[in-house]
Amino acid sequence: MLSEPTGSVTGAGALLSILRDGQARTRAELVQLTGLARSTVSQRLDALLSHQWIVPATDAISSGGRPATAFAFNQGARVVAAADLGATHARVAVTDLASNVLLERTADLPIDRGPEATLAWLVETLQGLLDETGGQLCGVGVGLPGPVEHSTGRPVNPPIMPGWDGFPVPEWLGQRLGAPVLVDNDVNIMALGEHWARSEVEHLVFVKIGTGIGCGIISERRLHRGAQGAAGDIGHIRVTSDREVVCRCGNTGCLEAVAGGASIAGQLTAAGVPAANSRDVVGLVRAGNTQAVQLIRQAGREVGDVLASIVNFFNPSVIVIGGDIAEAGEHVLAGVREVIYSRSLPLATQHLSIRATELGDRAGVIGAAVMVIEAVLAPEAVDLTVNS
Ligand SMILES: [Zn+2]
Repeated sequence: MLSEPTGSVTGAGALLSILRDGQARTRAELVQLTGLARSTVSQRLDALLSHQWIVPATDAISSGGRPATAFAFNQGARVVAAADLGATHARVAVTDLASNVLLERTADLPIDRGPEATLAWLVETLQGLLDETGGQLCGVGVGLPGPVEHSTGRPVNPPIMPGWDGFPVPEWLGQRLGAPVLVDNDVNIMALGEHWARSEVEHLVFVKIGTGIGCGIISERRLHRGAQGAAGDIGHIRVTSDREVVCRCGNTGCLEAVAGGASIAGQLTAAGVPAANSRDVVGLVRAGNTQAVQLIRQAGREVGDVLASIVNFFNPSVIVIGGDIAEAGEHVLAGVREVIYSRSLPLATQHLSIRATELGDRAGVIGAAVMVIEAVLAPEAVDLTVNS
């Protein structure tokens, strides 16, 4: 049993953090890295070994003639359940502690069926996946297509989710799955997923352009949620447009009302090219429909108009464009780039890269897993497990 206070910067959890880079290290190397006494390092390694957080590595390094055992992070120590619930579609996965997807399922699942029907489906599906993968579940991460109050994990006045306002999602799922549950909005978890794929980037903005428009902000490698969890809601920033469009929020001229997937589909339909949603728009762009290409490029410029201010204000090094409309590819990116590069300050755009999503549809589930893993493997959380 360790006697150090929990949360100590040199506790077992801090030792595990060092090993999370995937490199195996010997006792001697860890002594050198931490400055701790050899006996203290041994004691902490024993605690981490007994809870399976680490394993002896097979490639023992020889020092002074005698082989020394190296220790490595055990990414299979626990499993994580992750879900990305969209407006009409769900993706669910079980991952290891390095966000590798072990098993996944997708389904058509309208979120407006309400919380109990939706979450009952989620519990049943996750239990099925967990039965197949085995392993000890350490946490559940869920993304929802609406605003979520970060401190409680509850949806707050979500416009497209009738019946969900204030629903205790973490408690409801936690009781049935027997593990802690973290909930965030879908754009934030996508930002976490994209950042995981480009972990060397410190300041990243992820923009989702679908039926709605929103962004997730990574600042100094961490998700910036703001005071209530509402940071990044750029869909309702007013843009200068020739068209006075009323938004679903009640205001006029919101970015989402002008450049979102529903708006583009509506404009195409009015012009005699029937389109019901973002996917239809993307289909038309891919088929080379000139009107669809022009409208999507214009939508890119309108998004770029808002992002130009954000670039000046926040100075990200990478902007990642995702969501259904982003599948129209270069046409959207071209519009976004055109405005950002002409309107932002040269210093802010000098090394700015504007790219399409790398993870595509999977950004959300991977990000939901990352959210759980960062909480479970935080040094103070690991210290609590080895001290219990
Ligand atoms: Zn609005």
